[in-house]
Amino acid sequence: MLQQTQVRTVIPYWERWLRELPDVAALATAPEQRVLKLWEGLGYYTRARNLQKAAQQIMRDHAGQFPCDFEAILALPGVGRYTAGAIASIAFNQPTSILDGNVIRVLTRLFAIAGNPRDKATNERLWQLADQLVQVASSIQHPASNIQHLVFAGSCSVLNQSLMELGATVCTPQNPQCAACPLRDHCVAHHTGRVAELPALPPRAAATRREFYTFVIEHDGEFLVTQRPSGGVNAGLWEFPNLEVTGRHRTPTATLKELLGLTAACAAFASLTHSITRYRITQRAFRTRVRRRPALTPASRWLPLEELHRLPFTSAHQRLLAQLAA
Ligand code: SF4
Repeated sequence: MLQQTQVRTVIPYWERWLRELPDVAALATAPEQRVLKLWEGLGYYTRARNLQKAAQQIMRDHAGQFPCDFEAILALPGVGRYTAGAIASIAFNQPTSILDGNVIRVLTRLFAIAGNPRDKATNERLWQLADQLVQVASSIQHPASNIQHLVFAGSCSVLNQSLMELGATVCTPQNPQCAACPLRDHCVAHHTGRVAELPALPPRAAATRREFYTFVIEHDGEFLVTQRPSGGVNAGLWEFPNLEVTGRHRTPTATLKELLGLTAACAAFASLTHSITRYRITQRAFRTRVRRRPALTPASRWLPLEELHRLPFTSAHQRLLAQLAA
């Protein structure tokens, strides 16, 4: 839930999720549309689907108990090397390494690693350093490790959380607080004046602008919506009919004709902008009433407003739905 999202935003999602899906069995058996609805607005919906697949695998292969073994955690859908290492170390205090953006920043500066951390050789070197650190940590008896009820008491758990937290709060991308850093005596970049040049990340890809025309189409108190196909972006989520118009000089009425074969006057309804990865997307929404309903595809439905609220919508279209209901 926290990927690309602030803690403050996530808290109500987290609380609602745990209220409705309080354990692995509940998640494994929930309807997928319910899971997507609970995730609505967080984006990256593949994570929600993978969480459910993981819950189903845990029920099937682990008798409903979350596995504590690194390889078994890694075998869960949606779990990669970093996530498996984080769970195994933080929850189960195993000597497994982690390497995310924050840890990469700390390690490249601490050891003055000059290569691009996304290049294979440099990335593997950073994993090795993270491995060595957690192996050393595993041999240290943490003062709190004999307190049974503290899940986070082990030294591997503490080390990995400390690296992440240091990167997030002290060794920040801009203006790192070296004077207050507990690692400054050991930090090669700090001693050699190279903090600003590390990590040596390549420049970001330029943003690409995309524009969509979206149509809020009403007939007899119901609205036309379509479900996104499986296997693609935002699979299974719902949205109002829309078409990408970047680079084309089409009027809304011509676009509506092209999209659905409908001829109707369109009134400007809303204009929203949002970003997905490197795309800067503008949704220009138009509202229209039609006298006849176009032929439905298997993925589309006419529904009244109150039923639309029960469906999981993509984030931008959820905002349109909120404006429609206002
Ligand atoms: S001394 Fe500065 S550059 Fe080095 S780890 Fe600490 S905050 Fe980062």
